[in-house]
Amino acid sequence: MPKQDTRSSNDPFKAPATALRGVGPSLAQRLQKLGIEKVQDLLFLLPLRYEDRTRITPLGSLRSGDHAVIQAEVQLTEVAYRRRRSLLVSLHDGTGWLTLRMFYFSRSQQAALKPGTLIRAFGEVRRGPSTLEMIHPEYQMLRDSEAAPMEDSLTPIYPSTEGLQQARLRSLVEQALSRLKQGGLPDLLPPLEVDGHNQPTLAEALLYLHRPPPDARLDQMASGAHPCQQRLAFEELLAHQLSLRKLRERIRRGRAAVLKPDRDLSDAYISSLPFSLTGAQDRVVGEILHDLARGEPMMRLVQGDVGSGKTVVATAAALAAVGSGHQAALMAPTELLAEQHLATLRGWLEPLGLEVGWLSGRSRGKEREQMLEQLASGKCKLVVGTHALFQDDVHFARLGLAIIDEQHRFGVHQRLALKQKGERGELQPHQLIMSATPIPRTLAMTAYADLDCSYIDERPPGRKPVTTVAIPESRRDEIVARVQRACAEGRQAYWVCPLIDVSENLEAQAAEETASLLAEALQGLRVGLVHGRMKPADKEKVMSNFSQGTIDVLVATTVIEVGVDVANASLMIVENAERMGLAQLHQLRGRVGRGLAQSACVLMYKSPLGETARSRLEVLRSTDDGFVVAQRDLELRGPGEVLGTRQTGLMQMRVADLIRDAGLLPEVQQVAAKLAVESPERSEALITRWIGQADQYGEV
Ligand code: ADP
Ligand code: MG
Repeated sequence: MPKQDTRSSNDPFKAPATALRGVGPSLAQRLQKLGIEKVQDLLFLLPLRYEDRTRITPLGSLRSGDHAVIQAEVQLTEVAYRRRRSLLVSLHDGTGWLTLRMFYFSRSQQAALKPGTLIRAFGEVRRGPSTLEMIHPEYQMLRDSEAAPMEDSLTPIYPSTEGLQQARLRSLVEQALSRLKQGGLPDLLPPLEVDGHNQPTLAEALLYLHRPPPDARLDQMASGAHPCQQRLAFEELLAHQLSLRKLRERIRRGRAAVLKPDRDLSDAYISSLPFSLTGAQDRVVGEILHDLARGEPMMRLVQGDVGSGKTVVATAAALAAVGSGHQAALMAPTELLAEQHLATLRGWLEPLGLEVGWLSGRSRGKEREQMLEQLASGKCKLVVGTHALFQDDVHFARLGLAIIDEQHRFGVHQRLALKQKGERGELQPHQLIMSATPIPRTLAMTAYADLDCSYIDERPPGRKPVTTVAIPESRRDEIVARVQRACAEGRQAYWVCPLIDVSENLEAQAAEETASLLAEALQGLRVGLVHGRMKPADKEKVMSNFSQGTIDVLVATTVIEVGVDVANASLMIVENAERMGLAQLHQLRGRVGRGLAQSACVLMYKSPLGETARSRLEVLRSTDDGFVVAQRDLELRGPGEVLGTRQTGLMQMRVADLIRDAGLLPEVQQVAAKLAVESPERSEALITRWIGQADQYGEV
């Protein structure tokens, strides 16, 4: 076979869809809505499901719910007026009876369906008032049953869009398939064996999936487990993996400052902490310091469950930057969390003579100007803040390290934009990304293939797992009594009010009401309130009162979700837990269990519970492990949701499904590693085939 040039401009598969017979500008536009621009895209538009029109089902063996082809003789045709005027055609084939029911029909149609006519119809079978029925089936009248051939393969049903008929799509795919049969779509995968069997070639797999033989196993195909589907999923995952590797290499090619901690400063920091690092913290700090000293930009993701102690680790990294005469910036997604980091870092570092700067969206006037000046001059070595840190008018003299907390709130593109912020000539800043929403490893491999991952998989010692219970709202009194008891023992409690999507105002209002009701019910206890509508200074005051213990019960909206840290709080009450996501609930629960006391989390819900809500609450009751929670969350919600909408672009695959096909990933990674080195051209062709010229992970 002659060697195929995959780049040739007269490649029959790279031609625009308009090269196909019958495709004009308006059809081309509709096809675009399905993501089809080139002929090849039609090949990768796989059917959603299949219908079996290869054989005739006797009427006697039809069951309600079947999609079937039947063939029978008209016995009687009549117009019925009961409820809705309809044309009823009674059919019989010697084995049973079936009625065709039509609400829209013409006089000539009615006349043509006279008794004795032989009909072949395809449709869904339903139970009718007296017999099984098909409503508005596709049908044809047969002169001679021998002359009407049956389909010889299963009939594919494609994902479609308005104004694009299945029959039209099928015939377009047919044209693409006939080009495929002539060859010319090169197989880019190295020959693979799965369980000792050769995998089908690309062309075999595509032909099979578009036109499966009558004996194809539909159950297997519906679950995506058919070898032909797996063959394509493998190739697609491989293309994504290769593209991410490319991105990663481009990043690695950059240079970064060599950051080495100043021994004295770092030792002073570690020994001033009121605890010693856990083994996991120690290991992760080591991984980070190793990266920072290499002169290549670090891109490391630190995953650690809530309360695993990521802040200490981030601070150690920041000190490495500061110790080598560079700047470090720590960005948090909310004001509240940023403020708390500021307080924590100031508490640790100011005694060591290191000042910590502050820049948030609320920094104004002179304060802001001064901060900008200090960042630009390099006087401020370490700054904590929100998104405000990375706005256009912020300039750093020597940003060596950017730390992003609670990374799941930021997307890939923001991550890359942030990196540009600190570029100076050739040098790029190092990046440390911290997430308390663990991403299951399988997903991380793809979603974060451009990052190195570290896991803080150990909790600080002495923590007891949080006991979690779900209690209906009707037992509110009991819950209030429980709060009373905890506080009587000197503990503190959070009471989280429902999330109200529609407005922050309503949310704040609900929280205010709850706070005053609780203040009344909990005589003698000090009840505080924080919500998103409060002035930052007021919020800060309440939070600091709570952390100093002058407030017993903190009523809050979900603003406390991330990062807030008060070790004496041992009880977390969450109202309307049924409306919250798993990750969010796990985060809230992580606010307690930080001290030595046995802590509890009470998930209040409104009955009756829906099925998903029930499984969510059940997951939380059964495990305290963030990684297990994340895995279940992924199964319940799918990768797009788990990673946040900004990152769903990453997950737009045509054939593969990250959950269903997770088992393929280890081998995909191996093959990618090999292919990238041994056949860069093939790698390139695979990326182009599946992802396109400008790969979707963007230029760096
Ligand atoms: P997260 O990983 O959720 O960001 P934090 O950094 O807020 O966790 O740490 C949670 C709490 O645990 C803080 O009060 C912190 O001071 C404390 N902590 C962190 N590391 C340790 C440790 N090794 N031993 C004891 N307590 C620790
Ligand atoms: Mg944190």
